[in-house]
Amino acid sequence: MTDNEFHIVVLIKPVPDMEKVRFDVEKGVVDRSSAPLEINPFDLNALEAAVQIKEKLGGEVTAVSMAPPAAESVLRDAIARGADRAVLLTDRRFAGADTLATSYALASAIRKLGRFNLIICGEKTVDGDTGQVGPEVAEMLGIPHIAYVTEIREVTKEKLLVVSELGAPYLMELKLPGLITVTKDVNKPRLPTLKDKLKARKAKVEVWSADDLADVADVSRFGFSGSPTQVVKVLVPPMKKRRSQIFKGEDAVDKLIEALEMEGLLR
Ligand SMILES: Cc1cc2nc3c(=O)[nH]c(=O)nc-3n(C[C@H](O)[C@H](O)[C@H](O)COP(=O)(O)OP(=O)(O)OC[C@H]3O[C@@H](n4cnc5c(N)ncnc54)[C@H](O)[C@@H]3O)c2cc1C
Repeated sequence: MTDNEFHIVVLIKPVPDMEKVRFDVEKGVVDRSSAPLEINPFDLNALEAAVQIKEKLGGEVTAVSMAPPAAESVLRDAIARGADRAVLLTDRRFAGADTLATSYALASAIRKLGRFNLIICGEKTVDGDTGQVGPEVAEMLGIPHIAYVTEIREVTKEKLLVVSELGAPYLMELKLPGLITVTKDVNKPRLPTLKDKLKARKAKVEVWSADDLADVADVSRFGFSGSPTQVVKVLVPPMKKRRSQIFKGEDAVDKLIEALEMEGLLR
């Protein structure tokens, strides 16, 4: 990539398929081995936005993830969907990271990549669901950001004109380099073709350890040691089962009223 080329970084979190994942009630954690990893759904929109901008302005899209080694397949999927380069941060020293330590590791990786014009994240993840990582990465890199982008109206190499759904819809301008987080409304992610999938199978996913970031970061700020928040206990909320009752016959309405009164639903 030359110095003039537009460089977009997309942050992609590999998450377990939420339809299949099980919860380990005894340990109070999500059993991540119980379901295959996939691209966080909102990050599909982030990647699609990046690829559409690349198609307009030229340049390169780099996908970056911090996750266990099994996430390599997720980054291959990102390549099949249009990323040119993929970097996986994986190391035991990244484990136990809260959102601050996660953002620090991702921001350090972006620093290590060198020049960038735009960073795109999903608005949130389907497992952690905090929506904190995007804005935190922007703060750490000292660049402006706009969250909850639902529409990208204009894009040039200098700025973006976007609609952000921060409560009410706002039309906002972002000077680049900058970061946006996008919602599901921003676009409809394309499906990779068989040819794209086959090409991605052979593509190289770069794997970086904590030591690989030592020249741009303080490694003690990664993972558990860099996490000021601690999970004390995780509880699974009790599932309330739905009940159904069918009332038949001429007195069905009276019985229904009686049942509703007994539940305290009529006054
Ligand atoms: C004390 C503590 C300990 C934890 N320990 C662990 C642990 O041992 N193992 C573990 O898996 N999780 C752990 N977590 C959860 C972990 O901190 C979150 O998964 C992570 O910070 C991302 O937060 P989120 O899912 O809310 O992302 P959000 O802020 O909701 O994500 C917004 C966007 O940021 C980007 N993004 C977020 N995470 C990543 C990522 N990892 N790679 C690339 N892009 C990303 C994506 O674009 C995403 O759409 C821990 C959390 C806490 C508080």
